[in-house]
Formats: sequence, C-alpha cells, structure tokens
Amino acid sequence: MSENEEGTRTNGSRDTGSTDPGERGDDSRSVATSRPDTDGGETRPKVGDSRPAPAGGDGGRRPQIGDSRPAPDARPSGDGANGNKERNQSGDGDAGSGAGRGRRRRRGGRGRGQGGERQNQQRGEQQGGGGRGRQRGGNRPVEAVTDDAPVELDEETLRSRRGRERRGKPIGRYTMCVSVSGGITQIAVFEGRQLIEHYLSRPADDVTEIHGNVYLAKVQNVLPGMEAAFVDIGTPKNAVIYRGDLQYDDKDFESKGRPRIEQVLRARQTILAQVTKNPIAHKGARLTQEVSLPGRFVVLVPNSTTYGISKRLPESERKRLRNILDRVKPNQHGIIVRTAAENITKEEIERDVRRLLNQWEEIEKLAERSQAPSLLYREPEMAFRFIREEFNKDFRGVIIDDPDMFERVRTYVESVNPALVDRISYHDPETESLPLFERHHVHEQLRKALDRKVWLPSGGSLIIEHTEALTVVDVNTGKNVGRSSLEETVFRNNLEAAEELARQLRLRDIGGIIVIDFVDMEVRSNREAVATTLRDALARDKTRTQVFDISDLGLVEMTRKRIGEGLLESFANACADCGGRGVHLDDELLAGSGRAGRR
Ligand SMILES: [Zn+2]
Repeated sequence: MSENEEGTRTNGSRDTGSTDPGERGDDSRSVATSRPDTDGGETRPKVGDSRPAPAGGDGGRRPQIGDSRPAPDARPSGDGANGNKERNQSGDGDAGSGAGRGRRRRRGGRGRGQGGERQNQQRGEQQGGGGRGRQRGGNRPVEAVTDDAPVELDEETLRSRRGRERRGKPIGRYTMCVSVSGGITQIAVFEGRQLIEHYLSRPADDVTEIHGNVYLAKVQNVLPGMEAAFVDIGTPKNAVIYRGDLQYDDKDFESKGRPRIEQVLRARQTILAQVTKNPIAHKGARLTQEVSLPGRFVVLVPNSTTYGISKRLPESERKRLRNILDRVKPNQHGIIVRTAAENITKEEIERDVRRLLNQWEEIEKLAERSQAPSLLYREPEMAFRFIREEFNKDFRGVIIDDPDMFERVRTYVESVNPALVDRISYHDPETESLPLFERHHVHEQLRKALDRKVWLPSGGSLIIEHTEALTVVDVNTGKNVGRSSLEETVFRNNLEAAEELARQLRLRDIGGIIVIDFVDMEVRSNREAVATTLRDALARDKTRTQVFDISDLGLVEMTRKRIGEGLLESFANACADCGGRGVHLDDELLAGSGRAGRR
C-alpha cells in the first residue's frame, strides 16, 4: 500500500499507526502499487541535485515567492500533448449535483498577503446557497469546502457521539493548541501535559507546504536512468514523479510488462498530478498521477477502480457502509471509506461524497481552462487538515488563540463532527493572563526538543546528531550507575532510551534513516527486549517507521517516513560562520602550516 494513500494524509502525519508497512489499517485498496518501504526519498538517488534549469520561453511567467497570485494567468491553452485529456473528459459526475454546491464560498486571495484578506471572506453565504462563485473566482485554485451548514442530527445520534465527561468537563488523552501569529500557525498536541507533536506552517506559503495540492504540471525532462521525470508545477523547484506513480492506459502500450517512463511521458507534456510529499531542503516535491481527495469520512479517488472500507471497522458496520456507498459511489471513481465513518449517518456520508465529487469536477473544469503549470486544488491549511484526520473524542479539547481561525474551525467541526463542537474553544489573548503556548509550557518543552542532549529519568542520556544522510543517536549511561549488575544497569538504561527516543523522533519530526547506538548488552534476550520496546513505542507514532534487527556492532538501524522538514529546521538556521559544521577552523594556523612544513 503505498504512496498513493499518502495523498490522503495531512502534512503533519499520518499513517495508521502500524510499524509494519505490509499491514496498513486504514484502507483495503486492492489496486495500490506496492513499493518497498525503503523509499521515501531516503534511499532513492538524489535526483534533486542534478536538476536541469527549467525550460524558459513558453509564455507563462514563472511564479515567484511573494506573488499575490498562486499561478500564472491562465489563457486558453493551446497546449497539444496532453496526458490528462482523458481524465478531463471523464468526470460527468452523475452523483455530483446537489448538496453543498451552493454553499461554496471562495476565499479572496487567501492569506497570501498575510493578514487582512481573510476579512474579505463572505461569511454570510453559508446559509444562502447563492452563486457558485466560479465566475468570480476566475482561475483561483479549488479549495476544500470547510463551511457547510451542519447536517441535522437527532438528539440520540448526537448523544451517542459526544465524548466522555467528568463533572461536566470533557475528558480525553489529547489536547491540541493552535496559535496564530505573524502569518505563522503553530499546532501543539499534548498527551496529558506532555507535548508529543508540534507543527509549524505558513498558510500563505504555496511553495513549501503543498502536500495534497493538485497541479496542472508540465513535464520538463524525463530521466530514463532514474525512472523519473522532473515536472514543473510552478514552484521554484521542479517536482519529481517516479515511474511507479504514473497512470496510463495499458492499451497504449503493446509491449509486454510495464512501459518505461520515457514511453509514457515526454518533455513539455501536460499532466495532472498531486503532491504526495512536500519539498524538503534541496529535494523537490514528489508527485503522483493518482489523485485522491480526502474528506472527513471518505477519500475520493477519481478515475480509479479503488474501492475499500477500513478493515478496522466491524463487519456489520462495513456492510452498512457498503450499502450506503452502492447508492452514492459514482462508477468511474474510486472511494475509500475511512475509520471515521463508523456510526456516521447515511446523509453525512452522502454529503461527504458529493462534496468531494463537486471538488473534483471543479478541478477538472479548472484544468481545462488553465495552462500548465498551475495550481488546481489547494489543501486547506494545517489546522483543518489536522482536525479532518485526527480530531475525535479522544481529544479533550482544541484551543485556538486567533478569533478568525477559531470561528472557521468551529464552523468546520459543526459541519463534520457536531457532537464535539463544544470541545473547540477560544483562548482570548486580551482577557487571559498568559499566552496560550505559555500556559501549556510549549516553549519550555520545545526548547528541550531542540537540544542535542536529552536526559533520561535514571541519569542516562541521548545525544541526537544530524548528518546529511542520517540521524545518529548515541545512548549513554552517564550518571546512571544502577544497583545490581552492569548488564542490568545498561539494560534498564537502554529501555528508558528506547521509550524516550520514540517520543523524541515524533516530537522532533525526524525522518529518514536513523541509527541508534545503544549501550552494549551481553545478554541476547535483553537486546531483543530493547528492540521490542523501541518498536512498541514507535507504534504510537502515526508516522510510518521500520526498525531493523540489531547489527553486529550493536547498532539499530531504522527509518521514519519523512513528513516535514523537522523541528530543528523549522526553528533554526545554520550558523553563518561555520556553515553548520560546528567547528571554526584556525585560519592563522592553517596559513602558517606551509611555512612550518618548509622548516
Ligand atoms: Zn558555527
């Protein structure tokens, strides 16, 4: 299962919690292309390095950071070679009319100038069902609808969905705090009082935070030797698409086996593609041609035979959902039903499907009148994605310190999860004595998470070091002198280290290859117990990880899917003096060494 699925995930996350890549809970798709788990760009050739200069002179001005518009002005496209033509013509949307349509509202110039523009949004339209706004919207990218009016639910249904309370207060393991300031949104997720995840995003940024976005893209050049192609999506860096993420019609290729990438793609060809991975550092975004549009209860996979219902749901529930879908699923499109659909009414699911169908139709129509490269669909900003994917009654609350964001999130939750809308609350900076993040000790915990040294409860420590290719974690016993034998002390220390390490990887959002040097253990069963503890602790991390067996030198190698750029990179810049190497060369001595040699 695969990268495709990732298109349905938020930026900040989220596989289904399994550390075993072969066993992914959330869907049961049969058509996904499988790929070894060592992908994720980490073990792939770094094609991003050799990217040729983008071809110029094809008319459209290339967008720049800071542009007030997302994409070049689209003119009627004269672009002939068109890999996505067929896709464009298919969506007749038999179930696509109806609910939700009229409620759509456009966001004028959404947030790109940071600040004021949000005020322009026409909030009043929610109940109105007025014009569709496409005319007004021109060639603005399609956005997910987050402000549908709530579905009417009877009191019993609502009651069954409410979270648990104790003495009138909501209870739950998790809390989420959203802090907005200076064009930056930060999300802190707590388990109890402990910070377990942190995300930072610049919603105005259509350059770095593009996971899930759909583009009309232009192939720049195809690299048969890499089984990849560079594709212009209008961002400063070209995106990359690998052969396994292409879609093509088998009929077009007579030879046996899968066609080679150069048979499917040609330079200057226009394709429709979705970002499955944000650009990180020097690497461009990664694309797939299999688009998937995530809703709250289902994921729509346009022009696909995909059909799946989360296997984590009981059989009776799967049956009920299948019945509902038989009526609303359009023939030419695929659907994945998420675990969140459990006990959700037929009306709500139908509406989710229709909403996504409308979205897809709009994307196709926009594609027809756009010229590559251009942004066709933009994922909602991080707070919405997080709530869409994660928010449930295990959250005792979501606290937001920005009035506008609070209103919009509340409206969204009212529409998709009305029983929990009371758990969304506003932290008013005017009346509260402490800023939101200070009250929850976020900064304090973040500082610790940025340190290279992490103390363990018994006095040992972890040292976390980053290199270009991998992250290295050194485990020390330090002040931990234990009580019984050396082996026992080391073993206990390593167990603590394994637990803490899993927490740190998640909080620091460290991805790629990670090598852990545990303190040497003599007893084989102890070594195994440490590896098991690490695996178990990592299972709570929803980002996919894989732990390999302990090596001859006592090293544990593991991978963690790379999602964001990492906490450290979000908050730090490389030292200008040493370029991040951490040492300063003694120029005087170096200059003198030549003379010294002559003596
Ligand atoms: Zn330095």
